Amino acid sequence: MIIAIDGTLASGKGTIARALAARYGLPHMDTGRLYRATGVAALKAGADFEDAAALAGIARALDLNDFEEAELRTSDAGQAASKVAAVPEVRAALLELQRAFAGQDGGAILDGRDIGTVICPDADVKLWVDASVEVRARRRHAELMAKGETITLDEMIDQLKTRDARDRNREDAPMQAASDAHLIDTTDLTIDAAVEYARAAIDAALAEKHAASRPETQA
Ligand code: C5P
Repeated sequence: MIIAIDGTLASGKGTIARALAARYGLPHMDTGRLYRATGVAALKAGADFEDAAALAGIARALDLNDFEEAELRTSDAGQAASKVAAVPEVRAALLELQRAFAGQDGGAILDGRDIGTVICPDADVKLWVDASVEVRARRRHAELMAKGETITLDEMIDQLKTRDARDRNREDAPMQAASDAHLIDTTDLTIDAAVEYARAAIDAALAEKHAASRPETQA
């Protein structure tokens, strides 16, 4: 079973994905880490963010073991990620890795921005997770402050809007809900309630598949 989870920044999609991976015993890939790592590696190398070939080379040579989790979670890493993610050559360099992960025996859960639309258009279940800009900014702001970053809530809202716009308006694999995705708005939902909603959608999709694959009983 392949579960594709897409959604906006700080919508809760990663938390939902991890909970579902534990619930269904599926391996999970946070595809944003690939773009964050590419962005961080490009910053470290002093790469020109306009140089698509150089950025794609960095993406192809990526070894995720080279990165500390904390350095991938900073707001600078997130901004660099969204810049390199707008480069088609970078997306192409990271595509096979994600498809291979999705294609492993038994299936997988992937979360990102283009999983249901580009990476796994035939996923068994697709979820789109979103929340209001204000609520998402508050969540991310609290996370970053807890890690010692100094950023105001207004700056966070601006950053989030800029990144949303860049992700939504890029030409290659723009962030969007697949037409057959189940929508989860986490603005007023607790994580537990959001996971429960996702679980119900997945179980319903599985039951439907099961019924469709059962031979019809003779009258
Ligand atoms: O989800 P996360 O905030 O870690 O993603 C960082 C950035 O990576 C996003 O803002 C987006 O630009 C990019 N991304 C993407 N496609 C994915 C996952 C992440 O373009 N599948």
